[in-house]
Amino acid sequence: MLQKFDLVVIGSGPAGYIGAIRAAQLGLKTACIEEWKTSDGKNALGGTCLNVGCIPSKALLESSEQYEHTLKGLATHGISVSGTKVDLAKMLARKDGIVSKMTGGIEYLFRKNKITWLKGHGRFAAKNGSAWTLQVINGSDVETVEAKAVMIATGSTARHLPGIPIDNEYICDNIGALSFSDIPRSLGVIGAGVIGLELGSVWRRLGSKVTVLEALPTFLAAADESVSQEAWKIFTGEQGLDIQLSANIRKVVIEKKKVVVEYQHDGAVKMLECDRLIVSVGRTPNTDNLGTEVVGLKVDNRGFIEVDDHCRTNLPNVFAVGDVVRGPMLAHKGEEEGVMVAELIVGQKSHVEYNAIPWVIYTSPEIAWVGKTEQTLKSEGTPYRIGQFPFAINGRALGHGDAKGFVKMLAHARTDEILGVHIINTHASELIAEAVVAMEFRASSEDIARIVHAHPSLSEVMHEAALAVDKRALNM
Ligand code: FAD
Ligand code: NAD
Repeated sequence: MLQKFDLVVIGSGPAGYIGAIRAAQLGLKTACIEEWKTSDGKNALGGTCLNVGCIPSKALLESSEQYEHTLKGLATHGISVSGTKVDLAKMLARKDGIVSKMTGGIEYLFRKNKITWLKGHGRFAAKNGSAWTLQVINGSDVETVEAKAVMIATGSTARHLPGIPIDNEYICDNIGALSFSDIPRSLGVIGAGVIGLELGSVWRRLGSKVTVLEALPTFLAAADESVSQEAWKIFTGEQGLDIQLSANIRKVVIEKKKVVVEYQHDGAVKMLECDRLIVSVGRTPNTDNLGTEVVGLKVDNRGFIEVDDHCRTNLPNVFAVGDVVRGPMLAHKGEEEGVMVAELIVGQKSHVEYNAIPWVIYTSPEIAWVGKTEQTLKSEGTPYRIGQFPFAINGRALGHGDAKGFVKMLAHARTDEILGVHIINTHASELIAEAVVAMEFRASSEDIARIVHAHPSLSEVMHEAALAVDKRALNM
């Protein structure tokens, strides 16, 4: 019998599963089509983020930081440890355990919210009156379902470079790079973006000698320039990460169980020989075999589904959210779009505040920001004032034994509205939340300056940066 739903979501990553839950909360009869299978062939919910993205990468990040702290950080506290070593199999099993717990959690939430999980590949088949007919393809089984509305949340996959085949053993994308069977002595990374820096740092902390080859002449161009400069100093200086900018990859081959990368740099042809290579050069939206041409769904020339600010496509009652549409490829951006779409479907006036989306790069120290960078304000001709305060003179940061970085606040020169906040510090991912709230409420730097911040805490650095906008920092 043909199953009919108010909403069918295609994809159960953070955009899709959160959108499905919100729709079910609002009383919509909801189904979610998901085709993901784990390496041992089990069906799984959660998409890239939970299976091979945010969650496993942060689990390894934490393990590698604990290891490095035990090796190098504890001595400064007067604690000596000997015989520290890594049991990689156990570390990876811990990561896998966290992933199964989280993906199992979504299965539970689907049951709790009575969301039907349709296992298989989803594609548009036809328009049937005002409803949409979709096929769910699972091997040779094809089930047809009908939906009054469709939310496409098919996400993205790693972009591969022509002539560099990914085997996920020697040459890896994010999937292989989260599961190396041993710690490579030498690791090459193509692309000094978010994944390259995060995963490169994980393996560096565990003992690999890491070389990162980046095509662009600039480092972390999306971040505020003062933050990227500080990060460059820390990563390439004391941490010994070898990052080569303006590197033009010519050839990659596997020879005698080594990966050999031929590239052009500084006017010379160079070779990098490494045990493993990570290719992290961006991600491509998943719109293949979705039946877009069958129903006339508009996709741009890079494969992204075209949507407006409310994630509406060119087709009635068809929405698209998350990595498969414009905007940053961030889990929380997709989640909020999923919620917005579910609420729009039932007639609520929902929206996403795209100007207040936090960015976090989980390196050590972390980098986080919200709003505009100084270089953007300059190029727009917006008048601004800057307040910057270092963690180096914050008592709590010194107590942590980690007082690197600063908070930089940018406020409008006339109205004092906060236009951007940029942080580089071990706890930047948590500290940025205050700035996000402030920007959502269109706060001024004076608002933050007048708020009581607990002492001693890292949040005092945000307070001092706000005071510094008006040149009245108290502890500097
Ligand atoms: P996805 O999570 O990609 O999920 C899409 C789902 O749709 C998949 O399960 C796929 O199987 C399914 N699907 C696709 N096509 C079909 C179809 N036709 N039929 C059925 N199912 C289909 N973001 C952050 O915000 N913070 C982080 O710390 C972070 N770390 C990351 C680390 C790594 C290594 C990577 C790779 C990414 C990271 N990201 C992070 C980015 C984040 O994972 C993505 O932005 C997020 O997963 C996008 O969510 P989504 O729901 O749009 O798509
Ligand atoms: P990215 O866009 O962050 O970085 C890709 C880098 O590769 C860029 O610096 C680019 O100039 C470089 N590059 C492109 N082609 C190249 C080539 N041929 N040779 C050398 N360098 C080349 O992409 P990513 O690191 O693959 O991550 C993909 C997306 O996943 C990110 O955009 C991000 O939104 C998301 N992500 C987010 C987080 C987080 O929020 N902490 C973590 C990981 C991934």
